[in-house]
Amino acid sequence: MQPRDLSDHSPYVPGRGDEEVARELGMDPEELITLSSNENPHGASPDAVAAIREHAEAIRVYPKSSHADLRARLADRWDVSEEQVWVSAGADGSIDYLSRAMLEPGDRVLVPEPGFAYYGMSAKYHHGEVSTYSLDRSDSFTQTAETVLDVYEGERIIYVTSPHNPTGSTMSIEEVRLLADATAEETLVVVDEAYGEFAELTSAVSLLDDRDDVAVLRTFSKAYGLAGLRVGYALVPEAWADAYARVNTPFAASELACRAALAALDDDDHLERSIESARWGREYLRETLDAPTFESAGNFVLAAVGDADRVTEALQEEGVIVRDCTSFGLPDCIRITTGTREETRTAAERINGVLERIEPEVDA
Ligand SMILES: *Cc1c(COP(=O)(O)O)cnc(C)c1O
Repeated sequence: MQPRDLSDHSPYVPGRGDEEVARELGMDPEELITLSSNENPHGASPDAVAAIREHAEAIRVYPKSSHADLRARLADRWDVSEEQVWVSAGADGSIDYLSRAMLEPGDRVLVPEPGFAYYGMSAKYHHGEVSTYSLDRSDSFTQTAETVLDVYEGERIIYVTSPHNPTGSTMSIEEVRLLADATAEETLVVVDEAYGEFAELTSAVSLLDDRDDVAVLRTFSKAYGLAGLRVGYALVPEAWADAYARVNTPFAASELACRAALAALDDDDHLERSIESARWGREYLRETLDAPTFESAGNFVLAAVGDADRVTEALQEEGVIVRDCTSFGLPDCIRITTGTREETRTAAERINGVLERIEPEVDA
């Protein structure tokens, strides 16, 4: 037998991990500077790690009270009701929940190009179809309501990534409001704020107070350093928040994920350190790299380096792993996650060395 026709589905291409590269190069992963997946260079919140140790024995049972506690804590944090907090296995899990809740077979979603691959993948898993709106590179990938409305054709879901991966651009809350105002009543605008902590930008969550057509995604994978644990959430309008009970995979956010997330939310020191170093790092990279870069509100910088594949390979040999953006449709760009200060400085030096050696001339 065979699965259903999956020829239209493409696999997710992750950034390369240090163990994977270290094995290939016969190096110790410790020697590598891994700046390819927007992970937190300061590690997980230490309080989250302590919570995992403390609750290790609790994995015997299904996560019930920890899940309820996390929803309550997040509801408090965002000033919404508990029902409006859809906890999931990573923000990716919330994308699936929104697909399940919104899409009838054949419904369309509208996603940014370049952009995060999972929006379209999830829509297709749920028998939906995908259209794209383009962010204009010559305009620094600027995001306005108009950018989207130019091609909008009544899609059921519109994804906005702010800060945007991989470019770092943002859409202001005023523009999100304009977008939601201009689209049909049955179009949901999802604002993906996976990198929201790093930005100096008002979250779109406040729009949920007086409208039922905007949802927001947040995650513990980036600023909180819990990517390996898989926990994130959507914040949705009160009007249809109860759909969670009908679409969520039971217990998808594990006992330890919920406990660690609760602890991480109270670890202000770790969060502040992570945000500070990302803000420092993105400015440092923009000032230091001998390549055109784009302004970023995230914990990464997009740089135009010519042949991204060649540059990524050459950097890997020097122990620096960055993200080749070919799979994002930007074959001349790399995305560099900000590391610790020391890692960021070393990486910038090696990137400049590689650029001097293999790509003497780079156009923006
Ligand atoms: C990292 C990321 C996410 C969330 O990832 P999870 O680990 O599933 O929480 C969502 N959107 C974008 C654009 C991201 O880069």
